[in-house]
Amino acid sequence: MIGEVISVGTEIILGSTLNTNTYYITQRLSEIGIDVLFHTSVVDDSNLLKDVINIGLNRADILIFTGGLGPTADDMTKEVVSETLGLELELDEDMECNIKRYFDKMNRTMSSNNTKQAYKPKGSEFLTNEMGTAPGIYIEWNGKILILLPGPPKEMKLMFDKYAIPLIKQDYTIKIKTISTIGIGESKLETILKDIIQGQENPTIATYAKEGRVDIKVVAKGNDETKVDELLNEIIEKIDERIHEHIYSYDDESIEEVVYKKLKANNMKIAFCESCTGGLISSRFTGIPGVSQVFDRGIVTYSNRSKVEELGVKKSTLDKYGAVSEQVAREMATGLLNKTGVDIILSTTGLAGPDGGTEGKPVGLVYIGIATNHGSFVIKLTLSGDRLSIQNKTTLKAFDELRKII
Ligand code: ATP
Ligand code: MG
Repeated sequence: MIGEVISVGTEIILGSTLNTNTYYITQRLSEIGIDVLFHTSVVDDSNLLKDVINIGLNRADILIFTGGLGPTADDMTKEVVSETLGLELELDEDMECNIKRYFDKMNRTMSSNNTKQAYKPKGSEFLTNEMGTAPGIYIEWNGKILILLPGPPKEMKLMFDKYAIPLIKQDYTIKIKTISTIGIGESKLETILKDIIQGQENPTIATYAKEGRVDIKVVAKGNDETKVDELLNEIIEKIDERIHEHIYSYDDESIEEVVYKKLKANNMKIAFCESCTGGLISSRFTGIPGVSQVFDRGIVTYSNRSKVEELGVKKSTLDKYGAVSEQVAREMATGLLNKTGVDIILSTTGLAGPDGGTEGKPVGLVYIGIATNHGSFVIKLTLSGDRLSIQNKTTLKAFDELRKII
């Protein structure tokens, strides 16, 4: 379905009102899978508006208007739309009562101008305005949908979300799945999925790079819900076959949430000992509500001394291999495992830079240690980027390893 958003109002063209309505409506429409291809703004002039409507009807399936629904003479969207479509305006007595009641409640008298708002094009539906007087209008006409919304953003948003979107979706099922991946760049992902993405109109597939992860959004649409589900599942299976190990969620979750859920489902407790990440892993983890059920503690052991005192790392190991080493990462994790007796420990030690790198141990060298009652292992990373980015990448990698082994 192709969409066009039409804002009516001289103040928008003059630049005295920032056109935030178009921005909002477009975002919401794209979320439900409607392709907005056109934005039009037009001054309060009935002839020009008529041209805009005719152009819109030629190139779009759904036209969303905002502005010009109020009681004054320069508000003419409804009148011009009705005339252009050849639909008569009919008085709706229920709406007339509603508006009257609204004015009584506000202790104001209703003017004849306000009665104008009780008229709607034949065969259309009113959309309730919970925040003002001008109702919106929903019209189905020759296979097209036209929706008229008020200009004030608060009124528009509530009406659009609560009353217009459900009507748009009523005969039309749109389903969206977000596949979250980690450990694979956007361009590589696109290359691997190229043939699936390209030949594809329904569902559509698009990739979105986020900090440290890439989301794949799959949008399927159609009139038959079962068919839409089938379309969606078919594509998801194909994608899964190719990049299974990189997928960590189908529900638009963060990676730490996935780790939290897995720990909870397995009735496990975790603790962290962090050096180069300085508490970032614990901080991200404690951002999840309810995490106390699975999180025992997070210790920042930055100095060599703290690694010995808090975790029982051997001084000889530190002397022989240095703090940034596979051996120390392992002893940190096993040390905290012995101390706490929880099910799983993750440790980090590395060089986040910008200084301190050597030829043998460059900036970006990071070790992640994991210890459980079944044993321990260490992952070596060689990361690039500035200090913060090395810390962030280590954090993501840490959660990625955890979700794989739990
Ligand atoms: P009213 O009943 O308030 O007259 P209306 O539906 O007739 O509402 P307009 O008169 O066109 O709407 O606009 C009312 C106010 O809404 C404008 O002064 C402006 O502040 C705001 N507005 C209108 N269009 C937009 C837009 N596209 N983006 C943001 N704000 C808008
Ligand atoms: Mg107005």
